[in-house]
Amino acid sequence: MKWSDKGHELDGYGEKIVQSFRDKGEKIYIFGAGLIGEEYRPLFERQGCFAGYIDNDRRKQESGVNRACVVSFEEYCNKKMGGFIMITADEKNIPSIKEQLSRAGLKEQTDFYTYTDFMNSVYPVLSVYFYDQFYVRQAQICLTERCSLKCRDCAHGCYAVGADSQDMSLEMAKESADSFFDKVDLIKEFVLIGGEPFLYRDLDQIIVYIGEKYRKKMINFAITTNGTIMLEQKILDLCRKYDVLIRISNYSAELKYLEKKYAKLKEELEKNKIMYILGGSDYYWMDYGFKTVDRGGKAEDLIPVFDKCRTSCREIRGNRYYYCVMARSVSDNLGFGLGEDDYLDFNRIKKEDKKVLLEFEMGYSDKGYLDMCNHCNGADAVNYPIPAAKQIH
Ligand code: SF4
Ligand code: SF4
Repeated sequence: MKWSDKGHELDGYGEKIVQSFRDKGEKIYIFGAGLIGEEYRPLFERQGCFAGYIDNDRRKQESGVNRACVVSFEEYCNKKMGGFIMITADEKNIPSIKEQLSRAGLKEQTDFYTYTDFMNSVYPVLSVYFYDQFYVRQAQICLTERCSLKCRDCAHGCYAVGADSQDMSLEMAKESADSFFDKVDLIKEFVLIGGEPFLYRDLDQIIVYIGEKYRKKMINFAITTNGTIMLEQKILDLCRKYDVLIRISNYSAELKYLEKKYAKLKEELEKNKIMYILGGSDYYWMDYGFKTVDRGGKAEDLIPVFDKCRTSCREIRGNRYYYCVMARSVSDNLGFGLGEDDYLDFNRIKKEDKKVLLEFEMGYSDKGYLDMCNHCNGADAVNYPIPAAKQIH
């Protein structure tokens, strides 16, 4: 979307959301006391608006979940408990829950929301317009573009980066974190990525720097790895100290030898009491088409591509806040040289310009698209499956 009234694009919508939130007693219930609910609960608890869970499971109603109260939907209705309801459940169960809520006279997009709708379109707005806090779902610092694997279809183009290429300097990594957290009040997941971040020489120092200064502003502090490198004890100790989540991408469907590496890594992480998530083994990736797509470069064609995409992968690089980490990294790593101005300059935004920051987060910009959208399948990439983690030998 192209900015036409910068800083006020969402005023009408924001006021409507705030009014509705006030009318409902400034509370949020999570319908579904499972893993997804537990993932989002800390956000609402931080802002003091978590009212509890609603769940159809009798056992959860009796025992509660991690000291949170769980009520049945009948009790919720009988006691007229109010609040926004955010549904967190597996995709297959969402339609029946929606039906249950609708039968009781509640309206979707007014009284209840799916968690994707709520977290994409309501919560960030509520956070700025009601709490005066700029909330970001996910942002990353790309410490190095070097990688221990050479995936032919890497969406960051890391296969084209030589082993001798320069990593981000420690000073710039610190500046990136400072610049980001000067503007951001709360983030669901802040991630150190690569390439392969465990190749980064100063990883210990950047974990300490960010952990000491900014851990309180994050729900999750994560490092995403391909699992090929065993961690030194000092890194394990720091991950434990700062409660770092290790996300392990799982490429064992293509690279069988990785199964043993993952097993060893899991053992180390468990021994050191570090949280980790090993992804499901990917057989397919989506092809963003960066090497083949050319849409002709007209703004009127690229704005809808960008608007439909809504990627969640922001990147902070010094004072530059990029909407799409793939666009930035592929342009740099594959030599497109595009998107020179496709970022928000945090040095030119005042801390109090939270509405401008929110608008950028929601997809507004001066042009309304990124140059790299011209060479990208965007949201349609799901229709172009390619084998995952095929290596260039
Ligand atoms: S997809 Fe991941 S593991 Fe593969 S080259 Fe890219 S950064 Fe490395
Ligand atoms: S369309 Fe492609 S380049 Fe554009 S924002 Fe989406 S993923 Fe990034």
